[in-house]
Amino acid sequence: MEKRIVILGAGYAGLVCALQTRKYLNSSDASITIVNKHNYHQLITLLHETAVGARSDRSLRIPLQKVLHDKNVEIKKGTVVKLDPDAKQVKLENDETLTYDLLVVALGSETEYFGIPGLKEHAFTLKSLNQARLLRAHIESCFARYPLEHKRELLRFVVGGAGFSGIELVGEFADALPRLAAEAGVPLELVEIYNVEAAPGILPGFDPELVKTAEESLKARGVRFMTGVPITQVEPGLVHLKSGDTIESETIVWTGGVRGNQIVVDSGLETDPRGRAKVDEHLQSVNHEDVYVLGDCALILNEQGRPYPPTAQLAWQMGAACGKFLYHDIRGGLKEDFKPNIAGAIASLGRKEAIGKIGKSFKTTGKMAYFFKDASNYRYLNKIGSVFTNR
Ligand code: NAD
Repeated sequence: MEKRIVILGAGYAGLVCALQTRKYLNSSDASITIVNKHNYHQLITLLHETAVGARSDRSLRIPLQKVLHDKNVEIKKGTVVKLDPDAKQVKLENDETLTYDLLVVALGSETEYFGIPGLKEHAFTLKSLNQARLLRAHIESCFARYPLEHKRELLRFVVGGAGFSGIELVGEFADALPRLAAEAGVPLELVEIYNVEAAPGILPGFDPELVKTAEESLKARGVRFMTGVPITQVEPGLVHLKSGDTIESETIVWTGGVRGNQIVVDSGLETDPRGRAKVDEHLQSVNHEDVYVLGDCALILNEQGRPYPPTAQLAWQMGAACGKFLYHDIRGGLKEDFKPNIAGAIASLGRKEAIGKIGKSFKTTGKMAYFFKDASNYRYLNKIGSVFTNR
């Protein structure tokens, strides 16, 4: 009898999983339903570009129908509110209950606020297109208000966290704010960009030589780094630092970290303290073998026993592998262990340059690195059968 596969989330992991599963299994083997909050897939690795207006919203939004229309995959627009792996049920916000034989959880990550007072309430985040749009509208309004209000905090932009997300965002700020200032008739020398990082340096753990390149490039374009100073509290218009200093700013964007998904934590699937589900070498939950967990809400460990960083690259590799695992669940045969193949890491530093490490030792900077980053986006789009047309 036909099995019922339900995939939760149409991000990098969930969408690739749906496509890959249909490569191996036809509709008489299994029905596939993919549940997503929106009826589109979001290219969230490029949100920092949309947040400053450097890339259109439309180019980051891929209608699920466009990618899945001929794949015999039911698209269900809905928000998952509860998983009950014992009852094999999923509850949606509209009270609908879905049942499954095999479940794929690919709900992504959530922002980690570390309990810092006021942060959740007063900081912008950048985890969805809607949030990117909100930030862009806010920045534009700061520039529009300045000539009327003359408040310096309107032109002071603070990014909390100098991991990859924070650095990519300040790179976009450095390139886009001069344009926005000119459009609003605001003198550029009044615009200030701060990047505040708790660790002693930016991009903790990344290649020191590339970190130096990034720091020099961003400083030359006006970014002010404050390192070794954790943000301890945020009030409307005011950021408090552990040093006792404060920064008056109307714009604080938090890129200080991510954690797994609360729905997964509440479901009874075994998770780690950062809310990521523990999975085996076949990406199955360690306490519910009929539940696969993929992408940012899963915990997989490298050879040194440390968690792999949650990246889009890893998420879509997990999605692809899961398609094959579902095939074996239904048609039989031996599953091969999932082994990530991480090609490298590249961080953009604005519109024209990037830094990256490819393979174990190849380092790249400047336009070439940016080209590699663009190429990896195209590779992904090619994988999901979508064409990138709007810039
Ligand atoms: P992160 O956890 O990598 O970095 C967060 C940074 O915030 C850290 O450097 C941390 O020290 C700092 N921080 C934490 N608390 C702070 C505080 N109170 N005050 C100031 N700073 C504080 O998070 P991220 O940058 O969002 O990245 C999440 C994951 O996504 C990572 O695995 C990253 O590699 C990946 N990512 C990859 C790319 C890319 O490949 N281009 C881009 C973005 C994110």
